[in-house]
Amino acid sequence: MRLHGFTRLKLWKGALVWQVRHRWERTPIGVRFAITLLGVVGVVLTPLVCLNIHSLQQATQAQYHLDQARIARRVEQILEREMLEHLHQAEICTMSGDGLPARLGGDPEQLLRRVVYPLIRCSDSDAAAVVDRRGQVLASSSDEARWLCEAPTVQRAMHGVGDAEWIRHRECVYLVSAIPLYDRAQPRQPVGVLAVARRLDDAYLSRIGHLLGGRVAMAIHSSSTQPSAADASTDSAILRGSDGAALATIRWIEGVSEPRGATATLYRVKKYLIGSAALVALTSSLAMVFFLRRHLAGFLAALHRLAAGDWNTRVAYTAPDEFGYLARAFNTMAYQLQQAFAEQERQREQIQAQNEELHALYQQLQAANMELAQLNRDLTEANRALAQAAVTDGLTGLKNHRAFQEALHSLVQMAERLQQPLSLIMLDIDHFKQFNDTFGHPAGDDLLRQVAQVLRDSARAYDVAARYGGEEFALLLPNTTLEQAVQVAERLRETIGAIANPHRAITASLGVATYRRGAAPATLLYEADAALYRAKRDGRNRVCTYHPEAA
Ligand code: GH3
Ligand code: MG
Ligand code: MG
Repeated sequence: MRLHGFTRLKLWKGALVWQVRHRWERTPIGVRFAITLLGVVGVVLTPLVCLNIHSLQQATQAQYHLDQARIARRVEQILEREMLEHLHQAEICTMSGDGLPARLGGDPEQLLRRVVYPLIRCSDSDAAAVVDRRGQVLASSSDEARWLCEAPTVQRAMHGVGDAEWIRHRECVYLVSAIPLYDRAQPRQPVGVLAVARRLDDAYLSRIGHLLGGRVAMAIHSSSTQPSAADASTDSAILRGSDGAALATIRWIEGVSEPRGATATLYRVKKYLIGSAALVALTSSLAMVFFLRRHLAGFLAALHRLAAGDWNTRVAYTAPDEFGYLARAFNTMAYQLQQAFAEQERQREQIQAQNEELHALYQQLQAANMELAQLNRDLTEANRALAQAAVTDGLTGLKNHRAFQEALHSLVQMAERLQQPLSLIMLDIDHFKQFNDTFGHPAGDDLLRQVAQVLRDSARAYDVAARYGGEEFALLLPNTTLEQAVQVAERLRETIGAIANPHRAITASLGVATYRRGAAPATLLYEADAALYRAKRDGRNRVCTYHPEAA
C-alpha cells in the first residue's frame, strides 16, 4: 500500500514522539528534572546572556574606536609637536649662529662648518641648506640636500614666513623647517633662508612610538597612490604635505593600551557569563536534585517501615506543597492500614476464640459420642444377653421351651427343604420327685445341671439341646435317621446312668421319633412324647421309639 507523503510524515512524526516519550518515561526522575531545569535555564538565560554580550560587544567596539581615534589624535599631536619642536630647534640654532646673515655672501666652506653642520647637530636633523634671496644654494650638507631649496616651506620663508612641513622625497618623508634670515640693515626683507630636514626613519618612528607607549609603523604613499580605507581607519594618522596631499600613514601597532585587549576582555567576559549561567543551572539542578532526593529518601524510609509492619509510621512534613499533600496522603493511608490491621487482628482473635470454643465443643461431642458408643455397646450386649436369656434356660444354660419350639419349626422346614431326616429325643429323669424330696431341691438342681451337661457334650454343633420343662429335656437331631437317633439316645441313657452325684445314681427314660414328610412339627413332638410315655410305662430307664399302633 502506497502512502501519501504527508501521511508518511505524520506517521514518522508520531513514531518519533512515541520513541522520545518512551525514553523520557524510562529516564530517572532526577535526570529528567536536571534536563528540564537546564533546558529552562538555557531558554531563559541564553537570550539574556547573548543580549548582554551583544551590548558589551557594542560598548567595547565603541570604546575600541574611541581608543583608536584617541591614539590617532595623539599620533597627530605628537607629530605636530615634533614639527614645532623641530622648527623651534632650527630657530634657536639660527639665532645662535653669530652674524649669520652677514656670512651669506662669504666663504661657503665656512658657512658649512660654522652654520650648516652645527644646525644639523643641534636640531638632530639629516640635511640642511642655506639659500640666498634669489634661491641660490649657498651651502648644503650634501649635494643631495639641494632639493631642500625647492621645498614649498623654503619658498614661503623667502617671504618672511618661517614654517615647518612634511615633504616626500625619493620614497622618504622628511620634516622640513625653513627659517627666514634677516639682515639688520634690511629688517623687512629676508636675505636668505635656512632649511633643515629630519628624515622620518625607523629611529624617529621608534621615538614617536615610545612617546605613545607602544610601537608604530609607517606606510609611505607615492604621488599616484592615496591612502586605502585601512589606512584611513581611526587608529591611523595621515601625514599630509602643505598642499594637503597624503604622504604617509602612521599606524599604531601595539602597546600597553592596546585596544585589542578589549576584545580579549570581551572574550573572557563571554566565557565568564556562559560559565556562570552553566554553573547556576548546574548548581540549582544539583540543589533541586539533592532536595528531592532528601525528601524522597524520607518517604522511602517511611514506606519501608510501613512494609515491615510498623503501622505507627508517619511522615513529618507539614509544608503546604506537593510533598505536604503526598505526606498527608501517606499518613492517611498508614492510618487506614493501621485501623484495618487492628480490625483484622481483632477478627482473627475472635475467630481464634471461636475456634477454641468449637474445639472444646468438639471434644465434648467426641466424649459424648464415645460415651454413647459405649452405651450403645452396653445396650447391644444387654440386648444380646436379654435375647440370650429369652431363649436360654436359667438353671441349665440350655435353650428354653420357647427356643426349642422355634428351633423345632425351623428345623422341620429345613428338613422339608433339604429332604433330610430329622429326629427328636425326649428325655425324663426317673423318680425325680423322690430325689428332690429325699435330697432337697438344691441337690435336684445340681442333678439337672449334670444331665444338661451330658446333653450338651453329646450334641453336635447343629443339634439343638433344650430343657423342655421340669426335669424333661429334648434333643433335636437334624440329618439323623431314627436308628441313629436311637443310638444317640442309648448313649445318653448310659451316660446319665453313670452320672456321679453325692447322693445316688439316677436313670432316665427316652422317647425317640422321626419326622415324617408333610407332618406338622407338633406331630413330631407328640410322637416323641408318646415314645417317652411308652418307656415310662414299660418300666423306665430305657429308650423307646414311636409306634402308631402302640399309641
Ligand atoms: P416318674 O418316674 O414317673 O417320672 O416320677 P417322677 O417323680 O419323676 O414324676 P413327677 O413328674 O411327678 O415329678 C416331677 C418332679 O420334679 C416334681 C418336682 O418336684 C420336680 N421338679 C420339677 N421341676 C424342678 C426343678 O426345677 N427343680 C427341682 N429340684 N425339682 C423339680
Ligand atoms: Mg416328669
Ligand atoms: Mg420323672
